[in-house]
Amino acid sequence: MSDDHDDDATEERIETRAIHAGQAPDEETGALMTPIYANSTYKQDAPGDHRGYEYSRTGNPTRTDLEANLASLEGGEFGRAFSSGMGSINTVLNLLESGDHVVAGDDVYGGTHRIFTQVYEDYDLSFNFVDTTDHDAVREAMTEDTELLWVESPTNPLLNVNDIDALTDIADEYGALSAVDNTFATPMLQRPLEHGADIVSHSLTKYLGGHSDVVGGALITDDHELDERIGFYQNSVGATPSPFDCFLVLRGTKTLPVRMDRHCENADELAHWLEDHDAVDRVYYPGLASHPDHDLAVEQMDDFGGMLSFELDGTLDEARTVVAETEVFTLAESLGGVESLIEQPATMTHAAIPKEERVAAGLTDGLIRVSVGVEHIDDMKADLQRAFDAALE
Ligand SMILES: *Cc1c(COP(=O)(O)O)cnc(C)c1O
Repeated sequence: MSDDHDDDATEERIETRAIHAGQAPDEETGALMTPIYANSTYKQDAPGDHRGYEYSRTGNPTRTDLEANLASLEGGEFGRAFSSGMGSINTVLNLLESGDHVVAGDDVYGGTHRIFTQVYEDYDLSFNFVDTTDHDAVREAMTEDTELLWVESPTNPLLNVNDIDALTDIADEYGALSAVDNTFATPMLQRPLEHGADIVSHSLTKYLGGHSDVVGGALITDDHELDERIGFYQNSVGATPSPFDCFLVLRGTKTLPVRMDRHCENADELAHWLEDHDAVDRVYYPGLASHPDHDLAVEQMDDFGGMLSFELDGTLDEARTVVAETEVFTLAESLGGVESLIEQPATMTHAAIPKEERVAAGLTDGLIRVSVGVEHIDDMKADLQRAFDAALE
C-alpha cells in the first residue's frame, strides 16, 4: 500500500507517476509489484476494528492501488474503478434522479447512447443529443432540469474535437455536472479536470489497459462529496473489477506514456500518407491541418492520438474488401491496444444507424476506421497498400 508515496508522486511528471503512483513496494516483503489480492473478506480484530478492508466489493488492496494510479494520471484526487467502461457510465447516471435531464453529444459512444435511451429513459431521465461543437445548440438544449452534460473528445469515428473549457463553463452556468469520457485521448494527451470537468470517465479496456486483454472502467474526480457518492453506488451496484483485472490494468498504465508516444507517431505518419494517397478521398485525424477542429486540438491536446478514419474512394463493398484483406490491421471492433485494428463503421460499429442518418452524419459507405498500433509503420503502409490493390483493381 502506498499512501505516503502518493503525495510525493503528484509532484512528479506523468511518465514517473504512471509507474509509481499508487504502487509503492510492499512494506513487509519488498515486493515491487502490487500483488493480486485474490481475497473476498478480511479479518477483524474486534467487530468494526479492521485495517481499512472488510469485503472486496467495497474495497480491495489491488483495486486501491489502481484507483490511486488512475487518479494521479488524470491529476485528480479520487479514482474509482469499475468492471467496464459501461459500469462507470452507469454510475454517473446513478447520481441523477427521475425527472432530471441530460445533454450529450450526438456522436457519443454507441453504448453510451444505448444506456441513456434504452435503460435510463425508463427511469424517467430524459436526454438530448446535440452537436457539442456547436455551443449555441448546447445552450439551447440545456433546461432548468439539466443536471448533466456528457462530453466525449475526440469522438468516434470522425474524431471531432470538443472544447472542454467552453462546454464545462456552459454546464456550470446551468448548475449541471459535467462529465468527460476521456477514453480516446487518455490523460497523456488531455486532462479534462484541468479544463473544468467535474468527472472524468474511462473505458480501461482501451489505451489504459492497452493490450486487448481486460475490460474495465474508471471515474476520477477532485470533489470529495462527489467521490463519496460515486463510492456509494460503486459498492451498492457492485460493478467492481476483479483484483486480477486491476493488476492487468496496473501493468498497462506503466507503459502508457511510451505506448501513446508510438501510437501518436505512427498515426500521424499514416494520416499524412493516406491524405496523399490516390485511393483515399479524405482523412479524419485531429493532427492534420485539414481537420476542421485542428486548431482546437493543438490548444487542448498534447498530441493527437492513435485513432483515425479515412474515406476510401470506393463503394461499400470495396471498403469491405479492404478491411477483410489487411493482415497487420486485424479486422475487429474496439481500439487502443498495441496491435493495429481496422473496421468499417457502416457495417460494424455504426450499422444500427439508418443509412440516411448515417451518411448525413458523415459516416459514408467508404469510411474505414483504424486504431493505429505500435507495429512498424512501414509494415502498416505496405499492408494497407496491398488491401487497396486487392479491393480497387
Ligand atoms: C469502449 C468505450 C466505452 C465503453 O467501455 P467498455 O469498457 O467497453 O464497457 C465507453 N466510451 C468510449 C469512448 C469507448 O470507446
